[in-house]
Amino acid sequence: MNSLKGKVIIIGAGPAGLTAAAELCERGHRVIVLEKDPHYVGGLARTVHYKGFRFDIGGHRFFSKSAEITQWWQRRLPNDFISVNRMSRIFYRGKFFDYPLKATNALFVLGVLTSSACLLTRRYLTIILELYAILFISFN
Ligand SMILES: Cc1cc2nc3c(=O)[nH]c(=O)nc-3n(C[C@H](O)[C@H](O)[C@H](O)COP(=O)(O)OP(=O)(O)OC[C@H]3O[C@@H](n4cnc5c(N)ncnc54)[C@H](O)[C@@H]3O)c2cc1C
Repeated sequence: MNSLKGKVIIIGAGPAGLTAAAELCERGHRVIVLEKDPHYVGGLARTVHYKGFRFDIGGHRFFSKSAEITQWWQRRLPNDFISVNRMSRIFYRGKFFDYPLKATNALFVLGVLTSSACLLTRRYLTIILELYAILFISFN
């Protein structure tokens, strides 16, 4: 890290860029964040203003399996976390799928024919890839 001391330019003010910028600033670096969006920061997780209302792009909620990341945010937003129940779904070909995707739900909603086609395609692809791997290993 010390070798980076000085001015750092970060491209993109999404969560990754802003998090990196915050970390670097705390460690004494001078940081410039370049963002191509003329109005917003936050990347895919930005909140946009429209006719007096604020809209999140996508159903963004904070969640992380990493305790370190959760603590990182709790340190910065000690009083601003609120808990909400969330139900997210993907609308695809006129049907709703659970998000995060669950195999049983996806197969059920897709229907017997499409699910079977997917599973067969996956099986065939696996066989073809295995054959290619065997051929590749044999010829090398
Ligand atoms: C519909 C949807 C729902 C989601 N829901 C959740 C959720 O509930 N919880 C969760 O944790 N994650 C969620 N995610 C994932 C989360 O949005 C991403 O993991 C996160 O935004 C990635 O951050 P990032 O900074 O890597 O990239 P991005 O968010 O894509 O940010 C990249 C930024 O870089 C800028 N940029 C790109 N190119 C240039 C350039 N050449 N010059 C300058 N600026 C540039 C872009 O304008 C953008 O602001 C969701 C994603 C989607 C699409």
